Amino acid sequence: MVLAVSVFLSACGPATGTADGPIAERPVRVVATTSLIADLAREVGGDRVEVEGLMGPGVDPHLYRPRESDVARLVGADIVLYNGLELEGKMGEVLEQVEGRGIIAEPVAETIGEGGLLAPPEFQGAFDPHVWMDVALWRRVSTAVADALVALDPTHAETYVANAEAYQARLTALDAWVREQTATVPPDQRVIVTAHDAFNYFGRAYGFEVRGLQGLSTATEAGTADVRDLAAFVAERRIPAMFVETSVSPRNIQAVLQAVQARGFDVAIGGNLFSDALGDPGTPEGTYEGMIRHNVGTIVGALGREE
Ligand code: ZN
Repeated sequence: MVLAVSVFLSACGPATGTADGPIAERPVRVVATTSLIADLAREVGGDRVEVEGLMGPGVDPHLYRPRESDVARLVGADIVLYNGLELEGKMGEVLEQVEGRGIIAEPVAETIGEGGLLAPPEFQGAFDPHVWMDVALWRRVSTAVADALVALDPTHAETYVANAEAYQARLTALDAWVREQTATVPPDQRVIVTAHDAFNYFGRAYGFEVRGLQGLSTATEAGTADVRDLAAFVAERRIPAMFVETSVSPRNIQAVLQAVQARGFDVAIGGNLFSDALGDPGTPEGTYEGMIRHNVGTIVGALGREE
């Protein structure tokens, strides 16, 4: 894979980022890794940008390996926006090579800074990359996207700043809505059980305990002991529902479900959560705001409102 990429990059010749004119006089070509970052770039860039996202609906960024067609897109970009914090676990080499060609590649979630990031002990010093689950943190990332676009295309700085401010006002309202909705879940049922640990920031921001089967990344396999421990936890705490994720195989959560039922407790699958990828374009879940609304509606609906 690495060799193929190197050959491809050298066959492309020198960077051609500005071959079709100064950036201020044409749309800025943005390539984003995840659909979440592509959505953010569209909001902040507005009609100044042409955004291509590499990873579509249901794609797991921890495991995603760039294809040759992706490399061609990356090389043709004016700027590459990626999450960083090792979310795109298999893309490090390609991103380094793209940067080596003088293309700006910005790890937008890393601008949050250590003080705002979570580093759960089970991840051995690594930061949790799933920052979008806290709407207030994602609002901060939108500032990083605006800064990057302003630096690249200062002629249109006012446009980017105005777009970012308008979007941030919507995110502030969204964050308040999430607080209002999640506050209706009874305290002893504020537990989110999913296939992988994508919801730590959600838990911190909105007051939920979070249990994931696979740890931070889907790259590590869940073992039978993990399944047994999680099943015991769910049965003892009488947690009404667990959740599956659109970008992770439901197999492991099904195994937990059976283990819980074997203990004589009837836990439900509370529905599908969007964790690391948006839904299909054109659907409500195809945007960040829609995805958050879907997740919160699903969580609150399954864990129950206070009478
Ligand atoms: Zn993840």
